[in-house]
Parts: sequence; C-alpha cells; structure tokens
Amino acid sequence: MDANTLRASSPLTMETVVNQLQIADIDEFKSHFRGDVLLPGHARYDEVRRIWNAMIDRRPALIARCSSAEDVVQAVRFGRKNNLLVSIRGGGHNIAGNAVCDDGLMIDLSLMKGVKVDPNARRANVEPGCTLAEFDAVAQAHGLATPLGINSTTGVAGLTLGGGFGWLSRKYGLAIDNLISADVVMADGNQVRASETENADLFWGLRGGGGNLGIVTSFEFRLHSVGPNVLSGLIVFPFGQAKSVITQFARFTERMPDELNVWMVTRKAPPLPFLPAHAHGKEMVALALCYAGDPAQGEKLIAPLRRFGTALGEHIGVQPYAAWQQAFDPLLTPGARNYWKSHNFARLDDGVIDTIVKYGAMLPSPQCEIFIGTIGAQTARVAPDATAYASRDANYVMNVHGRWASAAEDERGIAWARDFFAKSQPFASGGAYINFLTQDETDRVAFAYGAAYRRLGELKKKYDPTNLFRMNQNVKPG
Ligand SMILES: Cc1cc2nc3c(=O)[nH]c(=O)nc-3n(C[C@H](O)[C@H](O)[C@H](O)COP(=O)(O)OP(=O)(O)OC[C@H]3O[C@@H](n4cnc5c(N)ncnc54)[C@H](O)[C@@H]3O)c2cc1C
Repeated sequence: MDANTLRASSPLTMETVVNQLQIADIDEFKSHFRGDVLLPGHARYDEVRRIWNAMIDRRPALIARCSSAEDVVQAVRFGRKNNLLVSIRGGGHNIAGNAVCDDGLMIDLSLMKGVKVDPNARRANVEPGCTLAEFDAVAQAHGLATPLGINSTTGVAGLTLGGGFGWLSRKYGLAIDNLISADVVMADGNQVRASETENADLFWGLRGGGGNLGIVTSFEFRLHSVGPNVLSGLIVFPFGQAKSVITQFARFTERMPDELNVWMVTRKAPPLPFLPAHAHGKEMVALALCYAGDPAQGEKLIAPLRRFGTALGEHIGVQPYAAWQQAFDPLLTPGARNYWKSHNFARLDDGVIDTIVKYGAMLPSPQCEIFIGTIGAQTARVAPDATAYASRDANYVMNVHGRWASAAEDERGIAWARDFFAKSQPFASGGAYINFLTQDETDRVAFAYGAAYRRLGELKKKYDPTNLFRMNQNVKPG
C-alpha cells in the first residue's frame, strides 16, 4: 500500500503521519529503500510494532523494515532529515519497550537474520535480527556456541549491546567479552567497523553502552566448543524449604567451578510432568543448572544440590545445548504484561535471602517470579574499565519478574515488585544491568552504567551529538 492509498483508506491515522512527514518525503525514502516501509493502516503494521512486553503499546509514524546495512543507512538519513524520534528493533524483547516509539521512525532489523560460522577460525558473523535460537541452530551444527541469554526468543543484538549473560558466562564471560568486531551505522549515516584496533573507543562503548552510539548491522563473535549435548535441568524443592535451599545455593555457587552454572528461581510451580499434582500452582524453589563440560564430571559436581532438601522432583539429563536454551521459552512467551526490577549482588547474605523468602510467599500472580542469575568467574576477571559494562563485581543478578495477563493486575503486581526491590536494596552491591531496566527507571540509568557513564557521555558527544539514538537507556551527549 502506498502513502496515497493509505490516505484514502484510513484518514485518521494518516493525519498523524502527515503531521510529521510529507508524503513526497516518504515516497522519496521508499525509492532508495529495499526493505518494506509500513505506515499505520498497513495490514502488518500492528503485528510488526508489537513487542514482547504487552505493557508497551506504541504507534510509530512509520516502520522501516531493513533488509541490509544499506537500508539501515537510508533509514538513519531519513530519520535525521525529518527530525524524527528513532527507535531500533532487534529481537523486540527489551522490557522498557525501547524498540518501538510513538509517532517516530521504528528501524526494524528483525528481517536481517544472516548467521555465518567459520568453524576453523571459531568465529561467527551475526546479523542484528537474529534471535538466540536462530544463532544457536547454526553454531551448534558445528558444536560451537558463545555466551548469550537463557530464553531463545531474545534478540542477539540488544542482549549483546547491554552485556549479555547466560549459562556459559561463568566459563566464557559475557557476550561482549566474546565480541571481536561490529559493523556500525553511525548517527551521521556513515558505516564504520569497530574492534580493538579500529575505532577502539567506539568498540569500548558498544560493549555495554546499549545502542547509544550507533546501529550495529553485524556482530562478529568468538565461538567455543559446547556440547552439542550438555548436562542440564531443574531440581524443584517445596517453598517451605526455601530459606535453607537458597542459603545452600548461595554458598555452593561461591565455590563451584567455572564450567558449572546454577540459577535460582522461586515462583508458583507450573504443571510440569515431573512434579506431583499437589505441587502444581504452589510456591516452589527451583535450581536450574547447566554444566559446560564432560557430563560425567558434571554429575559428580551437582550431587550436593540434591541434598539441599527433599526435592519435589527433578528433570536433569544430558540433552542438546540448543534444547536447554529453549527450556524456559514456554514460561516467557510474548503477550503478557511484564514489569521488572533488578539488583546486582556481590554475595547473597542472610538479609537478602530472608527478603526473597518473604516476597516469594507473596507472589501476586501465578506467573511472577524472583530469579537469581549467577555470573562471576570469567565475567569478573575482566577489568571494570575494559568495556562499558562496569558491573564486574556482580556475581549475581536478581530479577524481580512481575508478569501477569491483564491491565487490571498492574497496580498490585507493580506494588509487589517495587516493594520487594526497595526491601532488598540494602543488600545490593551497586550498579544495575541496563537490559533489565524498565521504562520508569530513567533515574537509575547513570547508576546502572556506574563508572562507565562519564566516558559514555563523551563518546555520545563525539558520535551522536544530537542524541538521535535516544530510545534506549540513554546517555546524554557530554
Ligand atoms: C524473557 C527474557 C529473558 C531474558 N533473559 C536474558 C538473559 O538470560 N541474559 C541477558 O543478558 N539478558 C536477558 N534478557 C534481557 C535482554 O538482554 C534485553 O531485553 C535485550 O534488550 C533484548 O534485546 P532485543 O534485541 O531482543 O531487544 P529490542 O527490544 O529489539 O532492543 C533493545 C534495545 O537495544 C538496542 N538495539 C537493539 N538492536 C540494536 C542494534 N542492532 N544496534 C544498536 N542498538 C540496538 C536499542 O536501543 C533497543 O531499544 C531477557 C529478556 C527477556 C524479555
């Protein structure tokens, strides 16, 4: 549908567009753009503007669905020329909803899904529309992987630019620690490469700076031998044993080898087939684990976890790494309303464990959960000023994951998350993971970037002085 057709078919939405743009400008842009341009009223407009968090409902003036880096250049130039608010969509998972803007230009990268693996060099080039599952599928065909997150529908792009951690991070570091280079479209529309040797300051800022400095059109990652089968799974304990299980989890994870990762989740039990029916829907504490090494060795190392209490059930085995990466997808489907709060911890002391147990008993909906992601080890061995991710002292990242179905539940759920967040704050170690900040946490942005904030501001002044890229956890120029 072209702009004129749209004017005839939906005058109200078109009015919004014309307020900002001349139809001639849009047509001119389309003549240089090889992807799709969607305006309000297009049959796919609503589907494409929709993102993972259903709390976010924004209506861009137009959506540029890029097919190549050259399309990204055209979109950036168009956005600048027309003084549009610009948002960038990778996998569309960001909790704050920064992938989509009201009345501006949404640059949608989700069709750019190329993945090239060089198994000899152990490197991969990944385009910014790839999800973790799409990347894993290609890399695991060669028995290779790089550390990414734990939900396979997340975008590689946004996850990496904020830092990126998952099951492999204790062994191989954050996603950014495995980034070799990035191809970037800058705010002036020029394309550059960033690496340790080319535009090194930009490369520093891309690794943790969350999309503030430019649009990455290709990520080059270092790969490692992983699996393809890994020892992984879940052990579930009744909530009545929460204090003891979480305390033992805290001490165990301080000493475990880099290859082993164990995360803690407390929530109401889904109807998992390995749990007794009486446990379904009741509060529980689950330990989720993955061993990135010889499964027989892993079996010995995880034996103590089974003695943390009297388990309700377990589902642990040797399975494809790519399958384990998808294990939590059914609990994290798009379309629910999600509200998060998060803290970093160097250590999990009694105070925070008591607070988790208290608020774990007050979950406002069956989908709410408190999880502790364990990092440390290799993530902590990188100098805090080596990249723009400054929280190298975070051994645990806690996410208070408020999640429910309807807007009527917002008030109660948000109050629970905020209250728990406030009560656990005294035990936190400082900094925050920018990829877990919600849209109402702009007051935490400088705190989250920590020591990197000032240098990021200088880079922003150098590379994006007009703050074209501001739909993110924004660093102001200078
Ligand atoms: C269910 C779920 C599970 C998660 N699990 C983990 C986890 O295990 N580990 C972890 O580290 N994080 C995790 N996250 C957080 C995740 O890292 C962030 O939500 C991240 O922003 C998602 O990236 P995306 O590309 O999907 O998001 P989008 O919403 O598409 O993008 C987020 C932001 O990143 C920027 N951006 C995206 N692509 C580009 C690009 N190519 N160039 C420049 N800027 C860009 C933009 O500012 C954009 O607004 C999880 C999130 C969800 C919803």
